[in-house]
Amino acid sequence: MRMKTRSRAGNEAAFNFQDALPLGFRFLRRSYYVEGAVRAITPLLLPYGGGFLFGAPWKKALPCLCLSGHFFPTHNSLFSVVSRNPRSKTTSFPGSMYLAFRGDSAKILPVQMPICSCEETINEFESLTRDAGRVQRDTLKKILELNAGAEYLKHFGLGGRTDVESYKSCIPLCVHSDLEPYIQRIVDGDRSPVLTGKPITSLSLSSGTTQGKPKFLPFNDELLETTLQTFRTSYAFRNREYPIGKGKALQFIYGSKQVVTKGGILATTATTNLYRSQRYKEGMKGIQSQCCSPDEVILGPDFHQALYCHLLCGLICSDEVHHVFSTFAHSLVHAFQTFEEVWEDICADIRDGVLSKRITVPSIREAVSKMLKPNPELADSIYKKCMGLSNWYGVIPALWPNAKYVYGIMTGSMEPYLKKLRHYAGHLPLISADYGASEGWVGANIDPTMPPEQVTYAVLPHTGYFEFIPLEKPNGEETENSASIHYIESEPVGLTEVEVDKIYEVVITTVAGLYRYRLGDIVKITGFHNSTPELQFICRRSLVLSINIDKNTEKDLQLAVEEAAKLLEGEKVEIVDFTSYVEKSSDPGRYVIFWELSSDASNDILSSCANCLDLAFVDAGYMGSRKIKTIGPLELRILKKGTFKEILDHFLSLGGAVSQFKAPRFVNSSNIKVLEILSRNTTNSYFSTAYGI
Ligand code: AMP
Repeated sequence: MRMKTRSRAGNEAAFNFQDALPLGFRFLRRSYYVEGAVRAITPLLLPYGGGFLFGAPWKKALPCLCLSGHFFPTHNSLFSVVSRNPRSKTTSFPGSMYLAFRGDSAKILPVQMPICSCEETINEFESLTRDAGRVQRDTLKKILELNAGAEYLKHFGLGGRTDVESYKSCIPLCVHSDLEPYIQRIVDGDRSPVLTGKPITSLSLSSGTTQGKPKFLPFNDELLETTLQTFRTSYAFRNREYPIGKGKALQFIYGSKQVVTKGGILATTATTNLYRSQRYKEGMKGIQSQCCSPDEVILGPDFHQALYCHLLCGLICSDEVHHVFSTFAHSLVHAFQTFEEVWEDICADIRDGVLSKRITVPSIREAVSKMLKPNPELADSIYKKCMGLSNWYGVIPALWPNAKYVYGIMTGSMEPYLKKLRHYAGHLPLISADYGASEGWVGANIDPTMPPEQVTYAVLPHTGYFEFIPLEKPNGEETENSASIHYIESEPVGLTEVEVDKIYEVVITTVAGLYRYRLGDIVKITGFHNSTPELQFICRRSLVLSINIDKNTEKDLQLAVEEAAKLLEGEKVEIVDFTSYVEKSSDPGRYVIFWELSSDASNDILSSCANCLDLAFVDAGYMGSRKIKTIGPLELRILKKGTFKEILDHFLSLGGAVSQFKAPRFVNSSNIKVLEILSRNTTNSYFSTAYGI
């Protein structure tokens, strides 16, 4: 049955309910008004939630309903329906997708509706989190139903069961290396249901900067939807505090090379997988996060040229920009550091309407040249504003006067960049973006007024199935200020069973074929929002610094560096970036900390910094080993300016994307190239005398 649809403005459009049945469903791209009799409407059961929001009672009520209402696509691809029954009682069922049965007669008339209603999104979130336990069970059921045919699940004898108990007793916890043989088959082109019911046709490459080698992860449309759901939720809360009108976002986003594996599967970073998707772009428009730069810049092959053009395009539409974004805080800081170097060239481009010769990639040149018209007034105003700044303080609000906030992941290993970012952001609030990984999303920041250092993430119970491995500090190892603990693990608990103030490792089950997958992140539960936990990101689980019985994590290293950095304040010197290494070639082994500094510091101060770092590792194993000299004096090595840019370039040359770059806080001895960069750029070295010589 094909139905004519007509917009209120009189435009004809057609939508065929039959096409909509179930696999042939296509997403409506506009808002629709539904008029007429629909025999039955049923929620399309999606693996990620909406459909089972309201459950059976509503389904039963509908067959006799004469429906007159409107569908409007929200940007999580689910459809909101406002239905009116014959007695004209209006009820809203937000965030759900509906499917009419074959043979129904209804007119669907496009109408102008807002794409995203923040209040609806918040209501939906409230409703989901009020019943997080049930939503989790339903979500697991959906994931397992959808993937019942997957070889992985069959191998462990799940036998089509979908309940939590059977799942936990059959399927073991796993890490990436356990899945590698399965993922490798997908990489090699195996189209059978290996991990998911529907074959995986795209792969994401996670950053994997510590091992110096990216790893493949499955990516599919369903995972994309959970990403949009997460972004939409935090946007709704953000927009309530910092409303933004129509406009654009100055985004520092970079695609990376897309490789087709020998089995014909597209593999690229998760960021690129998102940005090359039309569906994602539409979703981002819906939450007012459209990028100023054209796709050719985002997906361009050269990061340096893309960054220049992001800045240029952002300035061309400076009045329209209402927020500034990058996935991680590092890229934001990097972007404005680069701006300090190239701003005059950008002004010249805007003045003359001619793109700098440094942009050589034809696709980027063509796309950006189209946007560029001679605009001496704008160039003069940028020039004047830049000249008026003191050491670039507040450059963001000065050049983008309508920007309301700066947005990006700022917690965990991004905290060291906050100071610099605050400097560039001036009075603008810094809002930390959500918590997730290439594997899947975990939580959304629903309290955007929190300073990034205190941000917590509320777990979205319909985006995956979550478990938490309780981690306990062994007796005698409780050092207040340290995460340096060899944890004792207990049996994983469910989302609603976690306890406040306790720490856990996150385990996820996703719509893209990861089952009971240990994410390797440590989180602390800080409270609950309704019945879903709010968690604070603590650090990556993996130990970074360990020689014998000592155990120090990324967080311990960060705390030690922060402590020592205080000594530099008197000389107005800042740490641009840092990393570490364990030198085991000499006996005893020792910790080596590398610093890139904003300017030179005196030898005296740097010697004191080495001592301070050594004393700041308060892990009992480390202190004990230092005292009895089974670990040698800590060494602080100072690097030439630009060393971390060289490391970034190396990461890019391996196919990584800047948007995913996290400076390696620890360099493994197998990461020969990065070690070579560090050793070539070392200018000075200072040994600690803190425990005697
Ligand atoms: P990737 O898969 O390369 O994007 O990296 C994902 C990892 O980045 C996660 O496992 C976390 O360790 C870290 N990460 C992601 N989001 C956050 C966040 N909001 N705060 C702190 N760390 C995060």
